[in-house]
Amino acid sequence: MRDGMTRVETYGTELEAEMALSQLQAMGITACLELDDAGGMQPQLGAIRGIHVLVFAEDAAHARAILQGTGGDGSGAWTCPACGSDGEPGYDACWNCGRERM
Ligand SMILES: [Zn+2]
Repeated sequence: MRDGMTRVETYGTELEAEMALSQLQAMGITACLELDDAGGMQPQLGAIRGIHVLVFAEDAAHARAILQGTGGDGSGAWTCPACGSDGEPGYDACWNCGRERM
């Protein structure tokens, strides 16, 4: 972990982590990603445990609020209100049931 930075969120995929990173940066928060690869002891693909989003401690509360308030704002991942499937960013309808994004 980098000096003075704290973890605000952990994601399972790089894509999600990078979307969170760009959301924070768009709000003027300095953020970076930290890959948790279990210390490199598991070389097989997909062995990463998660990707942490780090921000400076003074921005942590603000960053958490931004990341928790991102549902349905049109900028990233979303959840189908009808079937609960994870919607693909950039698509306006559910891949599963066809329901339009709210
Ligand atoms: Zn659906």
